[in-house]
Amino acid sequence: MSRNAERRETAKATLTRALATDVTRTGPKSFEQLAQFALNLGAFKVVKRPMYREDHGILSGMLVPVEGGCLVAINERIGASRQLYSLAHEIGHLLHLRDRDSTQSTIRREKYRAEWDRHDDPDEERSCEVIAAELLMPEHTFADHLRNLPDSLTSVSNLSQIFGTSITATAIRIVELNSQPRLLTRWRQDKRTVGAVRLSWQIRNSINGPSVEVIPSNSKSFAGAKAAWSQGGLKVTDETLLERVAQGDSRYVGFPVFKTESIGFGVDKSRFVLSMSHLEHIRR
Ligand SMILES: [Zn+2]
Repeated sequence: MSRNAERRETAKATLTRALATDVTRTGPKSFEQLAQFALNLGAFKVVKRPMYREDHGILSGMLVPVEGGCLVAINERIGASRQLYSLAHEIGHLLHLRDRDSTQSTIRREKYRAEWDRHDDPDEERSCEVIAAELLMPEHTFADHLRNLPDSLTSVSNLSQIFGTSITATAIRIVELNSQPRLLTRWRQDKRTVGAVRLSWQIRNSINGPSVEVIPSNSKSFAGAKAAWSQGGLKVTDETLLERVAQGDSRYVGFPVFKTESIGFGVDKSRFVLSMSHLEHIRR
């Protein structure tokens, strides 16, 4: 089992135990439902308020120690889907606190005083992200929807509306739960060249397929991403420029062709492009 798949299994087991329900089979969640989960897990209150960070970065949510327990604060200045995700993420932290001291049935304030800054622990952060995804886009339900929709980036908007999640979080889930090898790439504006795109990040699922490496300096060569930046709608291209493919036996196979779909989202500064490469579509 891959490290990611292991994390998902752990998150599901933790959630099922703590909430006494199999979250992998539940439907989309509202903010109010998640707030109730947080209260059930020992939070004192869930509030939305404006939040600012000294460095002007965006703070989406946090646990705050207060008299009588712990407050979950969510930034009211961010969009609804990010508020939902942020609350799900904080529920992850509540679960970690609980797990660290399973003998306590309620979470006490003293404990938070010492531990509320755990936002800096990268392992815990990663785990909270996985918990948030399992909670908001439960595997079974999400996969059901996925089966009834085209295996394409065109399904992202639809699914993000159903589950109340952001475009990016939804696209990651589509790739993660896909039964075929998929590579997701996120692009942003290249500040130096108008209309050009640069690689932000890339993830792929753990389904066996060719291991693909894209060299960022050549990332402009994704023709579809560039077209999707300036035009509306889905661009489907045969990309030849994934740089290098090594197969299971490490044999070098040069420059195969993959079907890659690209769509642009958002406007102006918040515009980005997502590309999904279908790694089984190789023609030799
Ligand atoms: Zn966190």
